[in-house]
Amino acid sequence: MPELPEAETIARGLRDPVTGATVDRVEVVHADVLDREAGDFSARLRGAVFESVGRRGKNLVLRLGDSRRMVVNLGMSGRLLLRGPGASGAPPTHPAVYFHLEGGRGSLVYHDVRRFGHLSLHSASEYATWSASLGPEPLGPEFTAAALQRGLQSSTTPLRSWLLDQRRVAGVGNIYANEAAFLARIDPRARTHTLDADAARRLHRAIRRVLREAIDARGTTLRDYRTAQGWKGEYAAKLRVYGRAGEPCPRCAEPIVREVLSNRSIFFCSRCQPAP
Ligand SMILES: [Zn+2]
Repeated sequence: MPELPEAETIARGLRDPVTGATVDRVEVVHADVLDREAGDFSARLRGAVFESVGRRGKNLVLRLGDSRRMVVNLGMSGRLLLRGPGASGAPPTHPAVYFHLEGGRGSLVYHDVRRFGHLSLHSASEYATWSASLGPEPLGPEFTAAALQRGLQSSTTPLRSWLLDQRRVAGVGNIYANEAAFLARIDPRARTHTLDADAARRLHRAIRRVLREAIDARGTTLRDYRTAQGWKGEYAAKLRVYGRAGEPCPRCAEPIVREVLSNRSIFFCSRCQPAP
């Protein structure tokens, strides 16, 4: 499932080709990914200019004229792919929406095998309300060790679940939550109010480090994720614990443990991340 580094990589890959492009025509193949009826969605986008391409948490945010935004939540398997003018090569296998661009700039394709993704149009005020419902950007200035510690103190949920809550911190999903807990040497099952200031500092550093490393590697492809250019991310080979049950801990060689917490896997080293 795409998380912050994957969304950031896609945003960077779209920025030059898409910024300033005008939508000539929208072709809806599967309307179930849209927040409204296909004809209405298409009419609202026809003639719109993509003024900027950014990200909020794990969502892509394309700013349109009139301060409107199109927010793309990639769900489990969503991709935003560029298809060049007169594109050669195999056509996308599971296109859901095409945004055909004016002036021979090709198309932007929303592609989604499982179609848990979601495209929604927001007015300026709707966007502000939605954005305010999310936690701080973990690579932004608001996300400090002190703020993180306050947030951890205010909850009794297990750390991994806390990190997945987008209202706490925006953009972290299961892969990077597990990786950050390992780097910070904290058991992902630890109740967050039990974590002291030193643990919060280690966790703060670990979250930022793992997200930056993953952005540098253009994200993690386990199966579906691709960059806007259709490439796989390269961080999967660098994962320290996620998906590595039974393999030696990179720090102490103890086998990595997999358990299930709230119906999702956690991976950790029981020696480096002692039980609380
Ligand atoms: Zn270890």
